[in-house]
Amino acid sequence: MTDTAQISRQGTDISPEIALSLCKELSIALAKFPKVRLGHLPTPLEPMDRLSEMLGGPRLWVKRDDCTGLSSGGNKTRKLEFLMADAQTQGADTIITQGATQSNHARQTAAAAAKLGMACHILLEDRTGSNQKDYVLNGNVLLDRLHGASVSKRGGGTDMALEMETLAEDLLQQGKKPYIIPGGGSNPIGALGYVNCARELVEQAAGIGLEIDALVHATGSSGTQAGLVTGLAAIQSDIHLLGIGVRAPKDKQEQMVFDLAERTADHLGTGLQIERADVRANCDYVGPGYGLPTDGMIAAVKLLAETEGLLFDPVYSGKGLDGLIDQIREGYFDDMANVVFLHTGGSAALFGYPETFGLPGYTD
Ligand SMILES: *Cc1c(COP(=O)(O)O)cnc(C)c1O
Repeated sequence: MTDTAQISRQGTDISPEIALSLCKELSIALAKFPKVRLGHLPTPLEPMDRLSEMLGGPRLWVKRDDCTGLSSGGNKTRKLEFLMADAQTQGADTIITQGATQSNHARQTAAAAAKLGMACHILLEDRTGSNQKDYVLNGNVLLDRLHGASVSKRGGGTDMALEMETLAEDLLQQGKKPYIIPGGGSNPIGALGYVNCARELVEQAAGIGLEIDALVHATGSSGTQAGLVTGLAAIQSDIHLLGIGVRAPKDKQEQMVFDLAERTADHLGTGLQIERADVRANCDYVGPGYGLPTDGMIAAVKLLAETEGLLFDPVYSGKGLDGLIDQIREGYFDDMANVVFLHTGGSAALFGYPETFGLPGYTD
């Protein structure tokens, strides 16, 4: 008990009544931000009993943010509820965003723009160098196009933020009113969606008398984890939050999450302090790189498909699951009874990677 962060966290064993009243206060703080309804919320919280039994660790639960509803669902929908409302408030008629070729964020943004009657320009960065026909045309790319977005590609390593600025300039010249959404929708506006998710989850668990010990999810552009860190701090929850990295090394990932959580807390405007100790990422499951398959991911995706009837994706949630399963085996959760995996979606990307799972008839 030497460091103050630890002391203040350990002193947060608050009663369920106080926890729920803090949730209510957070709802009120969030209600001052414009929001459009895009998702099916609250998403279900379900036990994964066959998986729990098989792994022999804590009881595992899944928070079904793969069921947010918009164009096959996923975590970007919660962020887009705040981002698209901000775009509307600013009088925008055109959305610009960017992502990797099989970006789930791009697909959900294209769908949100379609629903709200806005034009949508998507810039896709080739981060994997794959020429597989399904990778470049199927899965999320097919859906981007079905939603009527204009899709253009850029080489790996392109400065995508600059590309979006340049495109916005061109569109302004043409009399359009563009609004740029950063990759992954990860800024303090988008992260509010996961501040709200933290509140939703804690209320939902209280409603069924469940005490959640840990919450685990895949972390990439960091808005999901930054929002959760901020939301859990706002309601003084002692749920142990762990992000499983899919791209950056641990130090960089944690710093990105911490910086965005601080900016999100400022944006929320309630005077909340973010503790660095609350930001934890394990980046040991990235493998050879972003969007590149690993054996652990393949095994995890197959295991969940076969034991729970759940679909995870090769880039994010599958690597997150690999991390969860391996850390259960390593004993990380040994003194915990209930662990929730936040399912961030992404199953549409499976159709961009059909050869990955070693099934007969899908050739490399
Ligand atoms: C974007 C994404 C993530 C990561 O969320 P961030 O907010 O970018 O960290 C995780 N899973 C899926 C399926 C995603 O599409």
